[in-house]
Amino acid sequence: MRPDTLLVHAGEPRPRDGGAVAMPIYQSSTFEETEGRGYHDIRYARLSNTPSHDVLHAKLAALEGAEAALATASGMAAISAALFANLKAGDHVLAQQGLYGGTHDLMTRDLPRLGIEVTFVAGDDPAAWRKAVTPRTRLFYLESMTNPLLRIGDLPAAAEFARERNLVSVIDNTFATPLAFRPLRHGFDLVVHSATKYLNGHSDLIAGALMGTAARVREAKHMLDHLGGSLDPHACFLLQRGLKTLGVRFRQQCATALQIAQFLEKHRAVERVNHPGLPSHPQHGRAREIFAQFGAMLSFEPKNGVAAAERMFSRLKLPLHAPSLGGPETLVTRPAASSHVGLSPEDRARIGISDALVRVSVGLEAPEDLIEDFDQALS
Ligand code: PLP
Repeated sequence: MRPDTLLVHAGEPRPRDGGAVAMPIYQSSTFEETEGRGYHDIRYARLSNTPSHDVLHAKLAALEGAEAALATASGMAAISAALFANLKAGDHVLAQQGLYGGTHDLMTRDLPRLGIEVTFVAGDDPAAWRKAVTPRTRLFYLESMTNPLLRIGDLPAAAEFARERNLVSVIDNTFATPLAFRPLRHGFDLVVHSATKYLNGHSDLIAGALMGTAARVREAKHMLDHLGGSLDPHACFLLQRGLKTLGVRFRQQCATALQIAQFLEKHRAVERVNHPGLPSHPQHGRAREIFAQFGAMLSFEPKNGVAAAERMFSRLKLPLHAPSLGGPETLVTRPAASSHVGLSPEDRARIGISDALVRVSVGLEAPEDLIEDFDQALS
């Protein structure tokens, strides 16, 4: 079945639970023990095994074409469970440069304290990967599109590199969503998501997800059980509901993002625009080859620096000045002052994030209204 059909039907019980078309919420922390079942069959919400979890897991797995999936209390819970389940003291990690700030902090502040070393490499430089890999390297971590510059690594090559060297390959597919990119088909071992973003899509939930083989998801689940990062049953319901409309939402957002990117690229007050759908994007060719859609995120440099960016923010009538992404409302941020504030100015400069760079999460408003609004605010 195609993704739009999977989003609506995958995982949903047949016949329906109590006849209810929408899956009921099992808001119960614990469940009665049934005869003949052992300690490990106990149903308890922290163990992510209520009926609310089971249905959501089946939908999430179908979406990424995975054997199994696990919903988590946040994207960071999925990322930390994936990392901690696969790493121990003495291990080494290869990680793509330009990762989401929270993941970067986890890798540079927390992993080293646990005796795990991380080396950052460009996502499209196999020579650098070969140079950085050591006998202790255990895991290769990438993102399908980097935040906020929307760079696209050589993802199929990275998955192959990892397989050849027996490394676990993990990819954060939040920005692309499974509608644009299915990493497991390209040989990745584990996919992680901030489901807070497009998967839920309504700016009203913090959640995460992790997908892969049954064995890998089981290992990550053991870790998540101990970290205590399960998703509450009511949040499971919200995420499952949001997922049903991912297809129509994401397609519309991608189409609008491309229109806005094309408009901004021609605007006299704009220096440069980053969007994979623009021929000027350094990996436009790769995006065409491996992605079904170009995504709904873009970033741009207004002329005249931070002051111009801040002036534009104060004049925009529709986009809200807020972090996060993937919801119905268009959001604008300055990554240097939000998602990437934890990086040193030198690190930001090395990655290519200027203080003035503006990131836009394109929402579901009419494209013409957004373009008119950006035009008046920039002018
Ligand atoms: N991965 C990416 C690419 C993100 O943008 C974010 C949050 O902004 C996260 C992971 C973390 O997700 P969460 O805030 O749901 O923990």
